[in-house]
Amino acid sequence: MNLHEYQARGLLKAAGIPVPDAEVAERPEEAEIIAKRLRGPVVIKAQVHAGGRGKAGGVKIAQDPGEAREKARQILGMQIKGLTVGKVLVAPAAEIASESYVGIVIDRSSQRPVLMVSPAGGVDIEEVAAKTPEKIFRLPIDPRFGLLSHQAMGLAFKLYRDIDQVRQAATIMQRLYHAFLDAGASLAEINPLVTTPKGEVAALDAKIVVDDNELDRRPGIAALRDSSADDASETKAREAGLSFIKLTGNVGCCVNGAGLAMATMDLVKYYGGDPANFLDIGGSSNPQKVVVALGIIASDPNVKSILFNIFGGITRCDDVAKGIVAATRQLKLVRPLVIRLTGTNEQLAMDILQQNGFTAGTDMDEAVKQAVKLAQEAA
Ligand code: GDP
Ligand code: MN
Repeated sequence: MNLHEYQARGLLKAAGIPVPDAEVAERPEEAEIIAKRLRGPVVIKAQVHAGGRGKAGGVKIAQDPGEAREKARQILGMQIKGLTVGKVLVAPAAEIASESYVGIVIDRSSQRPVLMVSPAGGVDIEEVAAKTPEKIFRLPIDPRFGLLSHQAMGLAFKLYRDIDQVRQAATIMQRLYHAFLDAGASLAEINPLVTTPKGEVAALDAKIVVDDNELDRRPGIAALRDSSADDASETKAREAGLSFIKLTGNVGCCVNGAGLAMATMDLVKYYGGDPANFLDIGGSSNPQKVVVALGIIASDPNVKSILFNIFGGITRCDDVAKGIVAATRQLKLVRPLVIRLTGTNEQLAMDILQQNGFTAGTDMDEAVKQAVKLAQEAA
């Protein structure tokens, strides 16, 4: 889950990192009032889940409240990487002497959070990594000990020569690590971390991506979700308690259990097809879940055939069959349905399906082959 800059700034500030005061506006007039309150020049920044806002014209400096209103008017409603700007951040414009980068990401190969710093901040870190990789310094953090002072100081010396700034930056790095852990983040980054002409170090931008699996035990963080930019079908699935990931193929897959869902996708690929989604309807599937699941899959215009693959254990095949009957009554499906059911209450399920005009099999290979063939014929 992505946080907005203003939300991430709040978390960094709560962790004790110096972040200039800022407020959010949804209308140009609000930006003007905030600018009046802040006094002096302000920076107006688009709040969308995208980087590179500066380059896209989504970050502008205004000298006075009237200009703040005008700049906010230009940015609000603007499109950045396909996202419409609905909110802007208004912050006092900082004077910048230098810009650097500080970030923490989960590194899957070392199975640790890795602290990354670069004196070449302000620009996309991906660009620095591609063109001048020698300007990025990395340190894997041992989660048993956290980020120790001497380690943070060592990296801070890569950014600054002035010992006072080195100390400030080292403290910021340690606090960033705490904010990263507290938020259940997979990424927390400050770009740019600036120095001012007075020698102060401050965070002017903040980005945090939260690991979705950390949200259950962090209701405060979960409440920060802004699903306006998320895929609508993924939002609907999440609200119904389904694990759903939209993919780009044309075979819609409705499966119970994450392992079987993965195996089904593999088999679709094996037989020359391409899955349109990953969908796990979960263990104890009530018929209503099946209705929602089928609705989500059927509303994807890429889907050319729909495959049900159910291995009944805790999930009862008759529940799934009832769901399929109910869903097809409500949805008026236009795509062919291939059903494979086996396990708990299999015979009951077959009877229900047959009475309602469906055919179903028990062989997974056969079902997948047929679903792939039907999708190819329709494509
Ligand atoms: P991003 O492009 O989406 O990463 O947005 P940033 O918040 O990082 O802003 C992009 C650039 O705008 C920064 O690297 C700075 O050069 C500039 N900028 C942002 N805030 C300020 C500010 O308060 N004062 C000045 N002078 N420049 C700023
Ligand atoms: Mn930035």
